[in-house]
Amino acid sequence: MSKDILSAKADFPLLNKRVNDHPLVYLDNAATTQKPQVVIDALVDYYTNLNANIHRGNHSLAVQATEAYEAARRKVTAYINAEHNHEVIFTRGTTESVNLLAYTFGEKFVQPGDEIIVSQLEHHSNYVPWNLMCRRRGANFRTLPFNERGEIDLELFKSMLNEKTRLVAVNQVSNSLGTVNPVGEIIRLAHAFDVPVLVDAAQSVQHLAHDVRALDADFYVFSSHKMYGPMGIGVLYGKEKWLEALPPFMSGGEMIDIVTPEKVTFNVLPFKFEAGTPNVAEAIGLGAAIDYLGQFDPLELQKHEEDLLAYGLKLLADIPDMIIYGAPSQRSSILPFNIRGIQHYDMGVLLDTMGIAVRTGQHCTQPIMDALHVSGTVRASIALYNNRTDMDKLAYGVQRAVKMLKR
Ligand code: PLP
Repeated sequence: MSKDILSAKADFPLLNKRVNDHPLVYLDNAATTQKPQVVIDALVDYYTNLNANIHRGNHSLAVQATEAYEAARRKVTAYINAEHNHEVIFTRGTTESVNLLAYTFGEKFVQPGDEIIVSQLEHHSNYVPWNLMCRRRGANFRTLPFNERGEIDLELFKSMLNEKTRLVAVNQVSNSLGTVNPVGEIIRLAHAFDVPVLVDAAQSVQHLAHDVRALDADFYVFSSHKMYGPMGIGVLYGKEKWLEALPPFMSGGEMIDIVTPEKVTFNVLPFKFEAGTPNVAEAIGLGAAIDYLGQFDPLELQKHEEDLLAYGLKLLADIPDMIIYGAPSQRSSILPFNIRGIQHYDMGVLLDTMGIAVRTGQHCTQPIMDALHVSGTVRASIALYNNRTDMDKLAYGVQRAVKMLKR
């Protein structure tokens, strides 16, 4: 029997907190999610009972810590249905995963005049590293625009692909609009040109299906802290053939095989990409988050979040002077809005006085804000522990804030 989603809130101690003398309504989940007690316990347990450096020692603690770290990798492998454990590289998060790839892929595969296609819906983390790499390599950075619904135009994408294209980088869910991008179709079209695709799953891995083999993704990146795990740990998944072909990113301990003044050779996957002491406790905490998520029926979880999103969007849409950004045919977890005549920042501050945590501003997506011709938006974003009461409080809070600000 799977766990009841409506009981989840009780598993997250911080959600019991009062903020500004109100019960906390936490709706900034796209920035980071709260952590269930089991994840917090896993971190405390590691430092209380297991702490040792991994892979190098042969004393008992070092062996046990290594085993716990590698068990966490196996959990990630299973969670995303990768074929091999060594296709899962631990990084500090999505940002580091993309940078690793932009440096190594650029160095190995990108020549002057080549092209990289990046969607205009990207977070800066999946935009700037590719932009800078293109400058370094003399390649062309091409952006795939979105339309007034906040969707990528697949016909336009097809017309941009050509024999100079080296890689396509796209997110599965936009952190600013919530658009669910047709990454399966994008991958199919790119593969027809032998072009690999990087899927930024930072906003999708915790909400939607997460099967890298079903998607046929070449690279798939995400952050633990947005999926109920600790900060400071994330994943770069890559197909074995790509990871084998890429040079290392950081160098130092653990990633080497032979070191002499004349010659340095590298360790096997995944260690080639994990130089230095990794975030062991955090990897184990991510494993605990995956175990926690595993208690829920994934389809029920998705349906719960979809229902909540539709409910919240409807409540917001009924508020006078409301602007909701984008109208994609499939949207996940994000409610992006503004009230005509009210600054997003002011709305955020007033909601906070009522204990309601949302994000305001550009959300690390200046290209999206530029296309929408706004300086920023208010963004509420949901997680599995949110419920209809949270949405009611958000809508009521927005209405109260409007009254105060327009008075
Ligand atoms: N990609 C997307 C779609 C995001 O929403 C974020 C964070 O908000 C990132 C990348 C960057 O993630 P991190 O800061 O965990 O590296």
